[in-house]
Amino acid sequence: MGTLTDHEAVKTFKLHGKKPNPCITAGTPTLMKTRYHWRNGARKTCDPIVWRTYWDLRGASCTVLKRESGCWMFDCGEGSQIQLKKSCIKPGKLTKIFITHLHGDHLFGLPGLSCTIGLNCAENRPPIEIFGPVGLRKYLRVCLELSQSLLGFSYSVHELYCSHSDFCQSGNTGPLDLSTTDRQHPNETLGRPIFENKDCLWQVCQESNLTVFAAPLKHRTMCFGYVVQEKQIPGKLDPSLLKQKGIPPGPLYSKIKDGESIIAPDGSQITPNEVMGLPRQERKIVILGDTCDSSKIKTIAADADVVVHEATLADELKEACIDYGHSTPGNLIELLKSLIIHKFDS
Ligand SMILES: [Zn+2]
Repeated sequence: MGTLTDHEAVKTFKLHGKKPNPCITAGTPTLMKTRYHWRNGARKTCDPIVWRTYWDLRGASCTVLKRESGCWMFDCGEGSQIQLKKSCIKPGKLTKIFITHLHGDHLFGLPGLSCTIGLNCAENRPPIEIFGPVGLRKYLRVCLELSQSLLGFSYSVHELYCSHSDFCQSGNTGPLDLSTTDRQHPNETLGRPIFENKDCLWQVCQESNLTVFAAPLKHRTMCFGYVVQEKQIPGKLDPSLLKQKGIPPGPLYSKIKDGESIIAPDGSQITPNEVMGLPRQERKIVILGDTCDSSKIKTIAADADVVVHEATLADELKEACIDYGHSTPGNLIELLKSLIIHKFDS
């Protein structure tokens, strides 16, 4: 995720008595090593050695949820391909990609990764579904079109629409002009718009026993957190117990697996509890983008088993951190406490 390295870099800058802006602006590597983007928008020369410390440690990448039927990626920074190569995850296994927001360190790896997947994929591989804020479709189209990239697989981009500008510190919930690139890429299947429901939550997608929800996070641009919710998995059926009761393998096995009671040849009733193991409790994974306020996701994040949350700056820089739409470790602990308290209360 690269957030801890940001933290270390800030400490280094503090030693030099400078108040940094953690926002990295695009530029050539030379510029990025020798210059720094200051809060007032002016660029000033910075100690290249200090900047190199920041630059060398930084590795904007991604989070991947590995599943038997395909892997799901969350965000795709420019370091994602390098990290994937170091891991046991093959790019061709990706079936869904979720982007939290359109800042480059969460997105710039997507066009390149798409091309890599295209180089290695089978002809009949399933399409890739990509989810994210409005503007994501245009970004990918422009990148692929200008680089004349054909992918060899089909993809669709499903965009999350938000009508509340109060989550977005800049006040813009999406790019102003979406019309300049309305031509579909040859490998693109048109995605669907996803709107919030009455509880201000987005039901993003559902596959087998997993449902993905999203909620808005306060940041400089429209940003979402994703919650992957697993349904409870029933316990395993013990066929030896059913055989003992005189039930041969067949349709009655399916019936009891579906939670229904059945009647044995001796007339007695067999309930699922008697012949099935304990159900596996549902699990929940919460993966958030950059934010200075993640409170809107609390309701659906409650009882989470795993939470991925940034902590960009130290607590003593809290004021600046919130200005830039980021969190400190203290903000993160506040959220985690509320989730854990909820877990123990329930
Ligand atoms: Zn950001």
